[in-house]
Amino acid sequence: MKAFILAVGDELISGAVADTDSSWLAGKLLEERGIRVEGIRVCGDALEEVRGALETCALGRDLLLVTGGLGPTEDDRVREALAAFFSVPLEADGEALERLKARIRERGIAWSESMARQVRVPKGFRPLANPVGQALGLEGRIGECRVFALPGVPSEMKAMFQAQVLPRIPYAGEHASFVLTAAGEPEALVGEKLRGLMEKKEPLVGVTAQAGVVRVRILARGDGAEARARAAAEEARRALGEAFAGFGALTLGDVVVRRLEERGLTLAVAESCTGGLLASTLVEVPGASRVFLGGFVAYANQAKEAWVGVPREVLESKGAVSREAALALARGAAQRAGADLGAGITGIAGPGGGVPGKPVGTVHLAWFFRGEEHHQACRFSGDRSDVRGAAVRRSLWGILDLLCRRSPERI
Ligand code: ATP
Ligand code: MG
Repeated sequence: MKAFILAVGDELISGAVADTDSSWLAGKLLEERGIRVEGIRVCGDALEEVRGALETCALGRDLLLVTGGLGPTEDDRVREALAAFFSVPLEADGEALERLKARIRERGIAWSESMARQVRVPKGFRPLANPVGQALGLEGRIGECRVFALPGVPSEMKAMFQAQVLPRIPYAGEHASFVLTAAGEPEALVGEKLRGLMEKKEPLVGVTAQAGVVRVRILARGDGAEARARAAAEEARRALGEAFAGFGALTLGDVVVRRLEERGLTLAVAESCTGGLLASTLVEVPGASRVFLGGFVAYANQAKEAWVGVPREVLESKGAVSREAALALARGAAQRAGADLGAGITGIAGPGGGVPGKPVGTVHLAWFFRGEEHHQACRFSGDRSDVRGAAVRRSLWGILDLLCRRSPERI
């Protein structure tokens, strides 16, 4: 099955909005039907552009999913483009039009003819009901290619795909997929460990780094796919060794919470430049309360001193961004919260605040575990949010290292 995705919208090609619809659709086709799309194209809203893109994307393909350009405004032109392509009229779907008018009345809004645009259907196409919005989807053919046009609003696109489109797409033969998560090691190292598996064409094994973890995806197709995917997943697990964090798409927070839970340990954190981001990353994990006791957001010096017990001499002689301050934050967090493990973060996230010897991006990370102190000085690049995100990930990596009886300083 040769499949393709076309995303329509000026906001996508201008860079104002990321085309997340296409990646979601590509993922669904692969997971649910074993169909790997041949490609994804993004085009602007101009009628001729949409028309040309529809024609080239459908050519030689069996399935084309289109997202966006179905709404009520002048710049939503997928319906017009299809009508123009086939030289057929556009007509409002009677039933949907009545429903739309009733909805508008209920809301106390005056009816305007442009509202009818979103329920218009080119002759020869079939309307697809929208369970969560007003714009109708479309189903039809361009030559041999089956075409489904869906709204651009992600919630509407997803609901329509699940209810109306997926049941109409056949399986591309037997297939099975597995996802594993690796953590605590960089992507390149994980890739090295899996090289043998990745060199084979079948099952297809791919790795992607994502927010501090590495996802390993395995896809087997054809007869006996399930057994071959399972065997490859087992082989990947063995090859990953200590870096194996679990089956499924886990986040770094998930992995840390799981490992703490397995060992019956508790954690507390004290953060300066990350301002609660580390705590928030942990709290995002359901059930985190079994291991995560809490966090201090100690931003000003007096907060570091009063809440976490960072000694004033340290702040005055070494500064708030220093090895000593980070160690005191980690120790203070663990001791004040009564946790087995404490993590401390202090740094300069920028864009201002850099000084000679402590440029923007300087972050001191520390961990306190079983009476032992660990520290690492880092220099992260990027903007304020990049530096804060990197600091949180490195802090969580350090926790994983300690739990594997490795020193966090090794990285
Ligand atoms: P609809 O057919 O539902 O009206 P549209 O593309 O015609 O969709 P727009 O007003 O252009 O309507 O977009 C609606 C919202 O959907 C916007 O917030 C836009 O950012 C978002 N959106 C559109 N296309 C995509 C996409 N491919 N990925 C993610 N978001 C998208
Ligand atoms: Mg649009």
